Amino acid sequence: MKPTSLILKNANLLDTRAGNIVGKRNIRIEDGIISEISAGSTKPADETLDVDGKVVMPGLCDAHVHVVAATASFPDLITWSPSYVAARSGQILSGMLMRGFTTVRDCGGADYGLAKSVEEGYLIGPRLLFCGHAISQTGGHGDMRGPGENWEECTCCAGLGRVVDGVPEVRRGCRDELRKGAHFIKIMASGGVSSPTDRIGNTQFSMDEIRAAVEEAEAAETYVAAHVYTARAANRALECGVRSLEHGNLIDDSTIDLLLEKEAFLVPTMSTHEALRREGLKNGLSEDMYKKVHEVVEAGHRTHSRASDRGVKMVFGTDLLGAMHEHQLTEFEIRSAFQSPAELIRSATVTAAELFQMEGQIGEIIEGAFADLIVLDGNPLTDIGVLQAPDRYLKAVIKQGEIFKSAL
Ligand code: ZN
Ligand code: ZN
Repeated sequence: MKPTSLILKNANLLDTRAGNIVGKRNIRIEDGIISEISAGSTKPADETLDVDGKVVMPGLCDAHVHVVAATASFPDLITWSPSYVAARSGQILSGMLMRGFTTVRDCGGADYGLAKSVEEGYLIGPRLLFCGHAISQTGGHGDMRGPGENWEECTCCAGLGRVVDGVPEVRRGCRDELRKGAHFIKIMASGGVSSPTDRIGNTQFSMDEIRAAVEEAEAAETYVAAHVYTARAANRALECGVRSLEHGNLIDDSTIDLLLEKEAFLVPTMSTHEALRREGLKNGLSEDMYKKVHEVVEAGHRTHSRASDRGVKMVFGTDLLGAMHEHQLTEFEIRSAFQSPAELIRSATVTAAELFQMEGQIGEIIEGAFADLIVLDGNPLTDIGVLQAPDRYLKAVIKQGEIFKSAL
C-alpha cells in the first residue's frame, strides 16, 4: 500500500555526486516525491520509518537490460506466446527491484504494455525505460534468422529487434517505435554475440542510416544508443551523433577521444560476457555464439579500465539474459578492478540519470526528485560488496514513495 506521505527518520544520506555520507537527516516524501530533507523535526506523516542511522542512497539504475529475455536463446524466444513472455518478464523485473534497482533502461524487447503494467502496479519492478524493438539491418545483430532460413522478419513479433534497410525504412522504424512510446532509440551498429549470422568485427548500417536515426530521435527530443564492439563501428556511431555506446569492448584511444569530445557515454556490460563465458552453453547459447564471447571478455577489461582512467562518462549496465539475470550485481565486482566504490555508485546513479535525461529526478537524494531510495546496513563507499549482497545488507526498497521491501 502506498502511503501519501512518508518520513524516513535518522538516515545517513549517501551523496552520490560528492561520494560521501551526510548524517543524520529526515527525508519527507509526499506523493512519491522527496519534498523535504532536514536535520530537525518535520510535521508528522502517514507513516514513519526509523532507519536508525543506516545508509540511505538513491535506488540503482541499470542502463542495459532486456527484461523480456527469459532465455538466452533469441530464436526460441520469438516462438513464445506474448502472454508467456510478459509473465516471465514480470519475474525478471521483480528480481531487479529486490536487488535495489529502481530504474532500468531496456535496450530491446520491452514495450509500452510492460512499462505501463509496472507504472500501474500490475507488475512489480523498477521504472522501465524502453526503446521497443532495437533497429537492425538485414543480417545485423537484431536479425535472428539463421543462414538457412528465409522467412520474412515481422516487426510486430520479431522479438528484440526489427529489421530495416535504407534511410526511409530506418526513419519509419524509428518513428514507429517512438509512436509506441519508446523513450529512446536503440540501433545495432556492429556485429554481436547472440546473433546467428554476423561477426563481431562487422560495421552495421551506413552512416546515412545512422544519421537518420539520430535525426528522428532528436526530433522527438530523445537520443540514440548504439550496440557496438569495435573502434571502427563505435567511431562511425559517435561521428553521427549517437549518445551512448553499448558494450564497446574492442574500442581504442581514438574512440575514447571521440567519447570525450562528444560528451557521450559508455555502457560496458561486463557481467553478461563473464556470465556467458561461464554459463552460456547451459542457457541455450549456441556453440558459434559461445566462441564470440571469448573474443570480447579479455579486451573488455583493458579498454574499459582505460576509458575510466581517461574520464569517460561510464554508466552501469549488465545486458544479462535468461537465468543469468541473478548476476546483475556482479557488474560492481568486475568493474571494481579499475573503479572506486564512489565511481561505481555514480555510474549507477547520477551518471545514469544524465544519460537517461532524468537529472534531478533520479540518481540523487534531493528535494523534488522521485523518492527512489534503498536502505543499507553498511556503507558501500567503503565496501562495494554491501551492494552485492542484498539478502544481507539491503533493508528497504522504496520506489516513488512506495515501500516494496522492508526488513528494518
Ligand atoms: Zn548489444
Ligand atoms: Zn543488449
